[in-house]
Amino acid sequence: MKRKPVNSSRTPVYRDAGFELYDADTTKGAFTRETDNERIPELYIYSRYRNPTVVDAEEEIMKLESCSWALLTQSGMSAIDTAVSIFQKGESTGPWLFFSEIYGGTISFLESVLKKRRGIKVHSLNPVNEKYDPAECEKIINKIRPEVIYIEVISNPMLIITDFDHVIQLAGRYGSKVIVDNTFATPLLCRPLEAGADIVIHSATKYFSGHGNITAGVLCGNDRELMKSAIEYRKFVGHMISPDDAYRLNTQIQTFELRFREQCRNAERLVDIMKTYPVIRKIWYPGLRDHVTHNEAVRLFEDRGFGAMVTFDFAGNTDDEKKIRRDNFLGAVSEKIKIIPSLGDPKTILMPVESVWGLKYPEPGMIRLSVGFEDFSELEKTVGEALDKIK
Ligand code: PLP
Repeated sequence: MKRKPVNSSRTPVYRDAGFELYDADTTKGAFTRETDNERIPELYIYSRYRNPTVVDAEEEIMKLESCSWALLTQSGMSAIDTAVSIFQKGESTGPWLFFSEIYGGTISFLESVLKKRRGIKVHSLNPVNEKYDPAECEKIINKIRPEVIYIEVISNPMLIITDFDHVIQLAGRYGSKVIVDNTFATPLLCRPLEAGADIVIHSATKYFSGHGNITAGVLCGNDRELMKSAIEYRKFVGHMISPDDAYRLNTQIQTFELRFREQCRNAERLVDIMKTYPVIRKIWYPGLRDHVTHNEAVRLFEDRGFGAMVTFDFAGNTDDEKKIRRDNFLGAVSEKIKIIPSLGDPKTILMPVESVWGLKYPEPGMIRLSVGFEDFSELEKTVGEALDKIK
């Protein structure tokens, strides 16, 4: 086995902003070949372009998504910006279709940047009774012939499962490219690239980093031309992740499967307990038979789990009564389950839905839980005692 100059078993944090290029010819060669946009360059030039610590972390994500390239960015939003922007063609950009139940930040990006500033014609497909209708989906694609279709596998906070297999089939028929945000489902539940999606993105801030201490994003795919465009776009706009964050992400992602499996298991067990409390009016969790897209979840995720997000609301005769129950619940769990506007953390965290989305979701007592991988008996005790208290 070839010995390295330093016998470290891992790639260190290369913090170089610019790398040494030795002489004029080497410099010329490095810059000339950089425009080939190989995933791993022959020589590193500048960390905004490519960085060895970042490449090492990208390889780990390629294994998880089973794909031929992955590019890390400094946030989920910059991964989304990169993914969509590489399909923009100036004034000749055709219409795009975004499914409407997607992350609020993505909706703001499409309204303020894609539509208002870049002038792209973006259409929306809304779910009907908490489910996307396959016939409506085909009708709108047939009508507008979108160049790009953007979906999330599990939506937030209603946890609607999008039948990405069907969307990808339709896209193939009508010549659309498909971008899938797989943040909530993760590759442990499904791998839309294997079904033919063009790009999968993640907010790596969530389950991949898994400790609430890194902001990062990643876009993945198999098409080499898309990879080249994405490498170029990331370089031009400076969406590159820092080597320190990439190194920490690479460490934390080693436990992703263990963590996420346990989070899914905890969510399932917690739902089993919560559904026995009459003070809870309704639980939205794709593993429940009465979830509108339960069948889609079973078909697409098989027996791998239903994710680790749970949304629920409280029984009550009036909106005020439901809100009081919500506030009492929040008060009762506040030492153990904190209000944190993120998800995928080690411990269970939550968000009061109405405080973020206003009246978009009609039930004022709704709470969204991101279930952690803490000891289940502790979680059961915290939630059980709080629900007993507010009966
Ligand atoms: N996609 C989803 C589904 C998200 O929930 C988020 C953030 O909450 C993002 C993308 C954006 O990620 P980031 O906050 O890392 O930019």
